[in-house]
Amino acid sequence: MDTNKKDSLALFRAFPELARKLDWLPLANLPTPVQQMNLLAEELDEDDLFIKRDDLSGEVYGGNKVRKLEFLLGEARARGADSVMTFGTAGSNHCLATAIYARSLGMEAISILSPQTNSASVGRNLLMGFHVGAELHHYHSEPAAQRGAAWQSARRLGAGKKAPHIIRRGGSSSLGTVGFVNAGLELAEQIKRGELPEPDLLYVAMGTMGTAVGLALGLAVANLRTKVVAVRVVDLRYGNEDAFHKLFDSTATLLNKLDENFPKLRWVDANVEFRHEQFGQKYALFTEAGMEAVSLLRSTEGIQLEGTYTGKAMAALIADSHAGNLEGRRVLFWNTYNSRPFPAEAMNRDYQKLPFPVQDYFEKPCQALDP
Ligand SMILES: *Cc1c(COP(=O)(O)O)cnc(C)c1O
Repeated sequence: MDTNKKDSLALFRAFPELARKLDWLPLANLPTPVQQMNLLAEELDEDDLFIKRDDLSGEVYGGNKVRKLEFLLGEARARGADSVMTFGTAGSNHCLATAIYARSLGMEAISILSPQTNSASVGRNLLMGFHVGAELHHYHSEPAAQRGAAWQSARRLGAGKKAPHIIRRGGSSSLGTVGFVNAGLELAEQIKRGELPEPDLLYVAMGTMGTAVGLALGLAVANLRTKVVAVRVVDLRYGNEDAFHKLFDSTATLLNKLDENFPKLRWVDANVEFRHEQFGQKYALFTEAGMEAVSLLRSTEGIQLEGTYTGKAMAALIADSHAGNLEGRRVLFWNTYNSRPFPAEAMNRDYQKLPFPVQDYFEKPCQALDP
């Protein structure tokens, strides 16, 4: 392992023992920039609004999954895996990010997909996954997807191949979450360097929770007072306080076991507020408020959000601003959505070459609020 590169992570600089113990691969462009959002602030009549540009976290594909994959694929490679299998809905950014980076490392990528409400981005992600050579398997329900995953593993073993290395949905295992502990420490360094003032509030979308948990843990380790406003965009079954606490504790325990200098924090140390009111009816079903937030960001800052995650998180920030709750507060929005464009050759591929079950997403109408 290139130890100089390991030095590029705030987490490894703060806890050198972790650099020796954790498998890791340099996939991301870090630190990601922080920018002030003057035009949005003017529009909302606020003073200090900032954005963390994790949309630029990777050269080919950005967004929040890249930080997790540095550790998850690092482990896969250290274990000698030649394929990875992961899970998500049809348009999953996590499955796509995993496929892109696994393929770039020469591993096979197996995506186990389940149904989601249709939007144009589902088709784009499927085409991009297909373009990089992901194996796409779509099932009609989540239980069917579980059975399908077992079957796909067995099929590989039967063909004399190794079992695929399994990566949890959303990459939100304790190990994947470590990527966002680093992100919290990275932000603390940027504050120290004067790139932004210490935020009072950090708005972020909460799905499988690795992002929000890792940030809350990293900020606590750095002794920042910043409160994470975790905007839930998934069903309560997947994103809830209990699961947040468990993931916080298991990640802190993992890091403390590997390096005794890593503080023994527990979930009571997390400065977090859970927000549920932007979720709407269901996962990946866009809301009016979410789509208004998407257009406001585009017309002010020229930054592209989307309706499943970041639009809903930004809608929470906007609603809080309208209610007067941001007055005198320094606010940071954490952009978790990729902004790297997909190559035209990927988008021009014939969807009829894709596995039959996903062709529906190209033939059936998108949801009403999809722009
Ligand atoms: C996956 C994802 C999230 C949610 O991150 P979790 O760590 O699963 O909570 C937020 N925004 C975007 C764009 C994502 O793809």
